[in-house]
Amino acid sequence: MLSRLNSPSAYVERLQRKYPLVGDDRIGQIYAITAKSLPAELTRLVDQHAIVLGTISKTRPDAYTVHLREGSAIVFTTGMMDFIYAVTRSITGMFVGHGNAGIEYQKAIGLGDVADLVAGIFTQWMNQRRWYHRSKQINYPRFRLSEEAQQIAETLAKNAEAFIMCHELAHAMNAHKGGDDTEENADALGLKYFMSAAVINNQHRMPVASMMLVVRIFASLERVGVHISSDYLQSAERTEKLRRGLRELPASELDIDEMMTIAVSLQELMDDVDDVIAGVARGNHQDDYQCYIGLLSRLEEVVRGRITEEEFVRGVDEIGRNIGIARMSKVANRLGTSYPSCPLTESPPSRRELMGLRLREINSRLPENLRSLFPS
Ligand SMILES: [Zn+2]
Repeated sequence: MLSRLNSPSAYVERLQRKYPLVGDDRIGQIYAITAKSLPAELTRLVDQHAIVLGTISKTRPDAYTVHLREGSAIVFTTGMMDFIYAVTRSITGMFVGHGNAGIEYQKAIGLGDVADLVAGIFTQWMNQRRWYHRSKQINYPRFRLSEEAQQIAETLAKNAEAFIMCHELAHAMNAHKGGDDTEENADALGLKYFMSAAVINNQHRMPVASMMLVVRIFASLERVGVHISSDYLQSAERTEKLRRGLRELPASELDIDEMMTIAVSLQELMDDVDDVIAGVARGNHQDDYQCYIGLLSRLEEVVRGRITEEEFVRGVDEIGRNIGIARMSKVANRLGTSYPSCPLTESPPSRRELMGLRLREINSRLPENLRSLFPS
């Protein structure tokens, strides 16, 4: 019935009559913020109602694009926003603080509690999908968060929604141009739309973290048996493609590594959550890149005075024990290359130069068996 409507406006209006929106139109607000950094050819299509975005009050989390003869309709359910917010708020319960370099997660509430919360939210999602006539709103945990943690949860949620929106806008644009509208292409173009605001604001880490978190949340859902879409790429592959897509930014390899710090700590957190949900012992899932980013962010925290050298050394020790000498050698080598020793100059050293210096200073305090792997 609906597919016979040719106009995206008519399509969305019809849905909105059936599921009238109460409260804020979140996606409208997010579009209004994002539009400033979107390409003119895209915003023109939205202005001309060839692409129409709409939110409907449905508790089942969903976001999709429908291609019609006169354009594309992008539909978000309020359930999607509730779900994203519930997850970000739950995992933020683990954060005790965060700097640019990473998120110190733990202990605000225990890992087991967080996993229970996230598992509970996933169960609610599954129930929504199984019995979507139910009109129960997804609940989010109402424990007290510090103002900072609250802020992180909001920022993560807002960025995650913006990424999903950009992905859907990319579907609409790909269809408009008559190109191949695959999930992969939507991710690639959506990434450009999404990151253009980050580039303008020169704020990359939270947007990158939020984008990777969206992919990671969908992977966790698949792990507990919720199938999102057969077209979606496998999570690991999708994450890797998005990371490679970041290389198209005017950014160096090291810029991108530093952009990944919060993303990697959230990925590790979600790995822990998955293990707890699955009822298995917390395993070590870090690949070499994640270990490298883990040490990079700790080193940055040392230079910023947020953690002590002892904590950095403990991190090296722990990672070394997890991955062994051969892998640690690669990780240490990469870190040393990223932050080379800098020549003495008149001008005060940059943060990166300080990181290079500090890394070499710390060497003598590292565990004996690992010392020779790191630069001195
Ligand atoms: Zn898609």
